[in-house]
Amino acid sequence: PGTLYIVPTPIGNLGDLSPRAQQVLQEVAAIAAEDTRHSRQLLQQFAIQNEVFALHEHNERERAAAVVERLQAGDSLALISDAGTPLISDPGYVLVQQCRAQGITVVALPGPCAITTALSAAGLPTDRFTFEGFLPAKPQQRRKALEALRSETRTMVFYESPHRILATLSDLQDVIGAERTLVMARELTKRYETYLSGSVAEVLARVQDDSNQQRGEMVLVLAGAPQQEQSGDSQAALQTVQILRAHLP
Ligand code: SAM
Repeated sequence: PGTLYIVPTPIGNLGDLSPRAQQVLQEVAAIAAEDTRHSRQLLQQFAIQNEVFALHEHNERERAAAVVERLQAGDSLALISDAGTPLISDPGYVLVQQCRAQGITVVALPGPCAITTALSAAGLPTDRFTFEGFLPAKPQQRRKALEALRSETRTMVFYESPHRILATLSDLQDVIGAERTLVMARELTKRYETYLSGSVAEVLARVQDDSNQQRGEMVLVLAGAPQQEQSGDSQAALQTVQILRAHLP
């Protein structure tokens, strides 16, 4: 059988398509892409002329079986998305899962990804972090999702889209709190790359005041909640004492 290669593509700067990525895209039998028109343009810039077929959110389930069959028949294939690393808030999970189930080799190339790019320059703790993807689009569900993260102590990374950024920032202020430290990384690797950092209230004010900050692509990196002074054990002990005290004269 062939091999499925997971190939990250630039998130803005074309120079970030690695030599190895170029070689794999050149040598595989065909490339599965999220948006074939968009990807053909990218490939053209690197003079890669290869078969490109569509594998996106809406057809992945039905297409995956045929792709696995082609791999079984001996063709090696590459999976790319519109930008960055496939499977990271992008299609590919169903295909990779099926390949693994069928014993097909999956090789992932390391490369551009907005999570690691934003995180590594944000200046917030990176020893532990959690990727939350896109928050729910509906206000009520978004607030609920944020409520569940209120006492998360790890740094949190969110993807967001320009038309929801103001709503999300004001929900962060209401639910997480105005004082929590936030970094908004925008247009990474591109001409107008910007990092806004400060309290949630400060970042919200800057984005409200400058409509340019509401454009393009953005990642939110949110500081975790402060570590509780008391460990779980000592908290339980305190509770026990309180209960006992209620029964003592
Ligand atoms: N697979 C991609 C990756 O590896 O980062 C992510 C795809 S997801 C559909 C698109 C989101 O990623 C955007 O809404 C934004 O939150 C983030 N993103 C992608 N490129 C970016 C960039 N150049 N600057 C800031 N954020 C970016």
